[in-house]
Amino acid sequence: MRIGEFNIRLITDGRFWLDGGSMFGIVPRNFWSRLVECDEQNRMPLALNCLLIETPDKRILFDTGIGTNTSPKFNRIYKVADVKGMRYRIEEVGLKVEDIDMVIFSHLHFDHVDGAVDVVDGTPAPVFPDAEYIVQAGEWHHARDTNEFTAGGYSDFSFEALERTGRLRLIEGDAEVIPGVKVHVTGGHTAHHQMVIIESKGEKAACFADLIPMPAHLPLPYIMALDEYPLQTLESKRRLLRQAADERWLCFFDHECDAPFGRVCEKEGRFAIS
Ligand SMILES: [Zn+2]
Repeated sequence: MRIGEFNIRLITDGRFWLDGGSMFGIVPRNFWSRLVECDEQNRMPLALNCLLIETPDKRILFDTGIGTNTSPKFNRIYKVADVKGMRYRIEEVGLKVEDIDMVIFSHLHFDHVDGAVDVVDGTPAPVFPDAEYIVQAGEWHHARDTNEFTAGGYSDFSFEALERTGRLRLIEGDAEVIPGVKVHVTGGHTAHHQMVIIESKGEKAACFADLIPMPAHLPLPYIMALDEYPLQTLESKRRLLRQAADERWLCFFDHECDAPFGRVCEKEGRFAIS
């Protein structure tokens, strides 16, 4: 996918399944069950989509999926399937892990960050040896100070492995990480959750990450029960979807299996993918 001078590739490392009710919050099953298919345990599939952004001189990865260090019990609970790890996926598109200059995390839930660290001879080691790792400082601290509500989203991921690289960059608020690639704090899913907005030669693309994980979440009240601040999600969606429609952003959806990108349009106050 071409955006001005940039190339954007969707890198999908398998899928996992989550409870359908938890994915749609206050929306009755009658409504959401028309949009997704559930298994006998009421679970629905979520793709593990990451973005590879290639500018003329940098390669940036936005999120890293669930990774291969999961236990058989975890794989059973979340029905993890077809996960091969980011090293495999990066090589699959003809690159090496050393080619990645920067990894940006939307937030640090296990399905977004765990793919960044591998266990080599019993020791956790970063998958991308030369990359700088970028995350909101608030999210970094939040992930390491969980409570009964938030703990389920975070694993025992080795944050130390990223710290040891000396290339962990904790940022505060919106930032242009390199010219044309911006992170924007949306809040909602977690207080410091961020999305990425890409602009080159007047064209724009974006990934909302878990603010809008799939097109089924385009209707404003379709908000995950997992969100820590659902009313913040609502207001961020309202503002950002309007901007996406006005400026014809090419939008990527991090957990969509079937149609993971498209352009948002607004018809009579409702947002849809065209
Ligand atoms: Zn997620």
